[in-house]
Amino acid sequence: MKSTHIYLLTAFALFVILGLPALANAGKAEISLDNNDRNGDGKISIKEWKKKKKIFEGIDANEDGYLSLKELRARFGETADETPTATPLTTKMDAVVPISTIDDETLCGIGRSKTCSIKVAIKLGMFETGLRPKFPKGLNCRDIDEQWAISYTHKRNRENYHGGIDMPAPYGTPMIAAADGTVVSVERGEKSYRGKEIILRHTPEQTGIPGYWIYTQYAHFNVMPEYMVGDKVKIGENLGPTGNSGIGRSGMQSGKRRPAIHFAVWFTKSPNYALTHGKLIPVKGQWMDPNALYRAKPPFDSYSLRDLPKSQKKIPIPVMTEDGKFIPANTKLIWPYACKG
Ligand SMILES: [Zn+2]
Repeated sequence: MKSTHIYLLTAFALFVILGLPALANAGKAEISLDNNDRNGDGKISIKEWKKKKKIFEGIDANEDGYLSLKELRARFGETADETPTATPLTTKMDAVVPISTIDDETLCGIGRSKTCSIKVAIKLGMFETGLRPKFPKGLNCRDIDEQWAISYTHKRNRENYHGGIDMPAPYGTPMIAAADGTVVSVERGEKSYRGKEIILRHTPEQTGIPGYWIYTQYAHFNVMPEYMVGDKVKIGENLGPTGNSGIGRSGMQSGKRRPAIHFAVWFTKSPNYALTHGKLIPVKGQWMDPNALYRAKPPFDSYSLRDLPKSQKKIPIPVMTEDGKFIPANTKLIWPYACKG
């Protein structure tokens, strides 16, 4: 085969894999603009900015309180010629699909908006399975105080269940990435029970679980994690400090909640997801009891997990110690808090 043929074949393969060829060309500046410009006015205000104010000021060359594409390009050392001028907004991330393509069951069951019946979330796995963590001997790890899918009906004024597990920890304790992954959502959560939160997406290679795409959610940060959508993270990386952000039953940031991580997990066989009103909806996503992630093999659905024999319900948890050691050494998954040695 001639080399030009190989080149064309490679280009075509890339086109097929990426689906959205513009993404391959989109500069960092355009991606940053797409990811941060929520109201779609073509610039980033300080309110829309997710990283430090100091960084914002460093980019805002004309000091008008907004970051323009030109200023972002200057920051990333890009020129306009290198990038197409009309990058569609859909090229934010290669796995993002329009929310209109999500089926009603997934949208309701994962999104859990007030207009949706909680029965749909239950159908997608939001019920108790009886799994419990078993930490390595001799280590002091942060245990769950509010278990997966316990009733939150008394907290929410309507039928509801806990969509994750909570581990209490002192203010400032680093929440750590459960696996290698990519930041796919960063939310201030000013009207959310979960408060400041971040969601990571993990490929099958990153978790060592073939055929499954996994999402991990970390919530109740004390301050906003200094990440932007698209950032890559490594297993054990410090995502940000524990706090108690999130509204209480009154609808106000209560401040009464104990500091803790809220850790949630979704799984799907699709690599794609949609974003809507600050929520991430994996295509054909289902709820996972977060303990099940550490089994590192299917089944992950709550029906099968509930039916496991009692002897298999204590899940050995791989962890990182506070001095950065992984137990077991080759693990691709860890508990979202480090253990004391
Ligand atoms: Zn929680």
